[in-house]
Amino acid sequence: MMNEFHRDTWIEVDLDAVRHNITQLSGRLKKDTVIMAVVKANAYGHGYLEVAETALGSGAEWLAVAFLDEALFLRKHGFTAPILVLGATRPEDAALAAQHGIRLTVFSGDWLRKAENVLDRETLNVHLKIDTGMGRIGFREKAALKEAERFVADSSHLTIEGVFTHFATADEPDRSYADWQHERFHDFLEVFEQQPEMVHASNSAGAFLRDNTAFNAVRFGISMYGFVPSGDIRSEMPVTLQPALSLYTKIVQVKQLNKGDKVSYGATYTAEQDEWIATLPIGYADGWIRQMQGFEVLAGEHRAEIIGRVCMDQCMIRLPFEMEEGTVVTLVGSTENDCILLDDVAAHNGTIHYESACLLAARLPRIYW
Ligand code: PLP
Repeated sequence: MMNEFHRDTWIEVDLDAVRHNITQLSGRLKKDTVIMAVVKANAYGHGYLEVAETALGSGAEWLAVAFLDEALFLRKHGFTAPILVLGATRPEDAALAAQHGIRLTVFSGDWLRKAENVLDRETLNVHLKIDTGMGRIGFREKAALKEAERFVADSSHLTIEGVFTHFATADEPDRSYADWQHERFHDFLEVFEQQPEMVHASNSAGAFLRDNTAFNAVRFGISMYGFVPSGDIRSEMPVTLQPALSLYTKIVQVKQLNKGDKVSYGATYTAEQDEWIATLPIGYADGWIRQMQGFEVLAGEHRAEIIGRVCMDQCMIRLPFEMEEGTVVTLVGSTENDCILLDDVAAHNGTIHYESACLLAARLPRIYW
């Protein structure tokens, strides 16, 4: 599918890669384990709708997002699969979620009491979140969890459908902290008089590298898009993932600078000799942030450095020789002889590929194949 656009910068998303990555995961999970495709943040920059549809067509049965608005957006676009909101939702919005069959994450008894007051005829399915060591949202006390179970048992509007936790270090080679969280989770599960139908703990790293046989769902995010969760576990990954996303632009102007000429805001770049430069129609408003200065992209097959400050909508590269306007520049992706990974972009910016992917702005056209 290709939406009409009028700009020479675009993202390509290979949905076959998403299919491949889900198939790789399914092959490693025990039968009947539910795969929740984590499509929050515009599917990590890849596009909510296309990724959700592909994931559900290739083995995922649930969708997971961070916020109620994202779940409502998916419902509005016709997705009927179960959706879990992983982040906090206002208790006042419990009825709205219930009306759309959206599952909410709950981490306090107070929230349940407030939600109970706004629920009328609807039933809300909740997943209780246990904070076993992430220090983010979640029940930390068994007593509070027990009380929550009792409260829901007496409620005609609430059902505990699931219970889950989140690992802080599943993507690190040292398993000890995640093992400890795992044990604590089991300990918390003993609190339940009746174990909830769904029990889940693993993200991508946990799904591939940990034993999930005690659980019946995994939450699959970064690796669905083809990324190893962190470089530290690359050698341990039992499967080969395929990155789905590439980012391209085209040279819109080529010019020759004379020695001493300056480039971009602040005039911080000075040509050391006569040199060819090109302007690219992508800038920090696209998520191609100012720190990208100094990064090398591929003009055709040739490495070319981003010089001068990255502007809001444009940036400049130094060419090895004069090139044609219209030459395709690979910012992320493979050419015949070379390759730039999103991990390279992240490393250049001192961050992680999760962040670099999420930063890719909605205004960038996306082509799916
Ligand atoms: N579960 C929760 C609660 C999360 O916050 C996330 C991502 O941030 C995921 C699962 C997916 O993690 P990953 O992208 O590492 O697979």
